[in-house]
Amino acid sequence: MIKLKNVSRGYPARAEAKGGVIRALDNFSLNVDSGEWIAIMGPSGSGKSTLVNLIGCLDRPTSGEIWLDGEDVASISPGELNRVRAEKIGFVFQQFHLIPYLTALENIMLAQYFHSMTDEQEALEALERVGLKERAHHVPSQLSGGEQQRVCIARALINDPKIVLADEPTGNLDAMNEEIVLRLLRELHQQGRTIVMVTHDPVVARLADRRIELHHGKIAAQEVFTMADEEQFEEVRRTWRDRRSRPHGSARSATGKYRSRKND
Ligand code: ADP
Ligand code: MG
Repeated sequence: MIKLKNVSRGYPARAEAKGGVIRALDNFSLNVDSGEWIAIMGPSGSGKSTLVNLIGCLDRPTSGEIWLDGEDVASISPGELNRVRAEKIGFVFQQFHLIPYLTALENIMLAQYFHSMTDEQEALEALERVGLKERAHHVPSQLSGGEQQRVCIARALINDPKIVLADEPTGNLDAMNEEIVLRLLRELHQQGRTIVMVTHDPVVARLADRRIELHHGKIAAQEVFTMADEEQFEEVRRTWRDRRSRPHGSARSATGKYRSRKND
């Protein structure tokens, strides 16, 4: 579904000597299967958002190939890139990026408009699926963080994308809303969508099928999780409970069955 081959994305490094380049992604290759849920981890500045933006057709690589659902998006025109993004990708960002003067419903209808045409009934149903039908006519400032993120998920899904990209989707949420948002992501996974999720939380990462650790724009390590969905979620809930009952203690390290492999 997603294939990156020898992808580099460089930025000019102003602080360094003239002509220096920061390699946000450095000769990076990755295959994500259809229906796979990938968690991307790594320190700040390791290239996680760059990767999400490239897969999401918000940016183009300096070199390399990016294939989405059989289409090479590294070499197509900006107009085509917009079409691929509207047709295939749903975004959920940490900062929500809702239009502040539009209601929840209108924010979703705007995404419909960019894809094809608006359909108010369909937009309302999307809000209902995330439990927010009663909030349809509220603007973002009248919604809690968790509610805003659920509007974002409804917006991400309105055009039925095959790929969902989530850049720290629970980074700004409390524990309760984090659980609601992660349950929604799990539903998307069960529906067979391909998910790429950036997270700082190893417990959240364990919900995915595979965890990829980035360092300096390269894959430093990978881990494949093999637990069944329901089992995995129970494990995550146990860890959350432990964390809540031991606010200052160290969270028990998750102990599921997985195999670990170092990337070369
Ligand atoms: P992460 O999301 O893992 O924190 P990013 O992908 O945002 O990392 O950034 C990777 C590297 O690329 C960092 O060194 C960052 O400073 C640099 N970078 C990202 N975007 C830009 C940009 N638009 N201009 C210049 N440098 C950038
Ligand atoms: Mg980032």
